[in-house]
Amino acid sequence: MFNLTFEFKLKPTATQITVFEDWLEQCRKVYNYALRERKDWYNSRKCQINSCSIRSEYIITAEVPRPTYSSQCKALTAYRKTSPALQRVNAQVLQQTLRRLEKAFVSMWEQNHGFPRFKKQGALRSLSFPQLGATFHQGNRFKLPGIGSIKFCQSRPIPQGASVKQARVVRRSSGWYIMLTLQWDVSIPDIIPHGNPVGIDVGLTNLLATSNGLLIKRTRFFADAERKLKLLQKRVTRKKIGSNNWKKAQKKVALLHEYVGNCRKDWHRKLSHQICDDAGMVFVEDLNLVELKAGTLGKHCLDAGFGQFFNILEQTCFKRGVYFQKVEAKKTSQICPNCLNETGKKELSERTHSCHNCGYTTDRDVAAAQVVLKRGLAAVGHTVKMLAEGKFIGIPAKQESPRL
Ligand SMILES: [Zn+2]
Repeated sequence: MFNLTFEFKLKPTATQITVFEDWLEQCRKVYNYALRERKDWYNSRKCQINSCSIRSEYIITAEVPRPTYSSQCKALTAYRKTSPALQRVNAQVLQQTLRRLEKAFVSMWEQNHGFPRFKKQGALRSLSFPQLGATFHQGNRFKLPGIGSIKFCQSRPIPQGASVKQARVVRRSSGWYIMLTLQWDVSIPDIIPHGNPVGIDVGLTNLLATSNGLLIKRTRFFADAERKLKLLQKRVTRKKIGSNNWKKAQKKVALLHEYVGNCRKDWHRKLSHQICDDAGMVFVEDLNLVELKAGTLGKHCLDAGFGQFFNILEQTCFKRGVYFQKVEAKKTSQICPNCLNETGKKELSERTHSCHNCGYTTDRDVAAAQVVLKRGLAAVGHTVKMLAEGKFIGIPAKQESPRL
């Protein structure tokens, strides 16, 4: 089983846009109501046993169970019968909103994310359709339950042999988009480490350095757009809040942000394909991105988009049959890749690595990438050794899979 997401731009009519806006608003209300219900339950259980809380009284009795996805779904179905506003919205789309809330809670419990927050007007931007009919795709149109036939820009062919599992309609400042989750009913074998290994070190002077000596300068998509952004934001503040001109000015700001994001994403995709072109194994550092973004160079770290780059690189590696692994990031710039001795901390201005022990000299970032490579090879060493001895039989050297 393997999934890919395809994205297309929709061309909805004015009526369809009103329907989408209405649905989003109803979903937002359902989300906020369900969150309120859960919050109330938690608050009413916070009261200490030896003192009475002044701020929150015990309003929900002790035997009431914690609201869950299924209990809230049940309540939603019952309430929907009496509410004409909710009846306009597809029932499954509403349920998916509750599922989203459940997911937000699960990631709070399991991944240490923050407590889910209420969504203010316009903050909910997507609707998901979990079940689609057999005639979902016809020519240049998609048929969505409750919405009807809707035109889209066929920017790329939709692959045959895949079933559409889910569709998500997203509102962005540049228009409406649809994301299709396609599923292939095939089993994909795990990628075995093979071929040419490449270690990657990321930084701010050079966005990227590989162990082969490839250095790529940092891109400054956000920093370049900042002047323009400042100008546009100044224009917003000079308009009357809530007026039509204010909305127009606000939209220009949003469009610029989206443009910057798109540029960065496109660049990351191209870069990761370039890396995969001549690699069989890719190793990257396992950076703590939360710490990085809080530092003095936080803005530039976010502009470089390390997290997104690693995610895209991992996906690209998967698609092209390249082995991908993260390795420990500690002290990569303080170790000599040739003799593995510690050379001590380097200042940021120190651009070359030269080892006083063995005399190995190279670019500072390339040296760090070579350390990453050494660590990666050590992590997969056993498999690579067996490969070299020919113990795995029938593994093709490098599969050139089509670019999807
Ligand atoms: Zn050395």
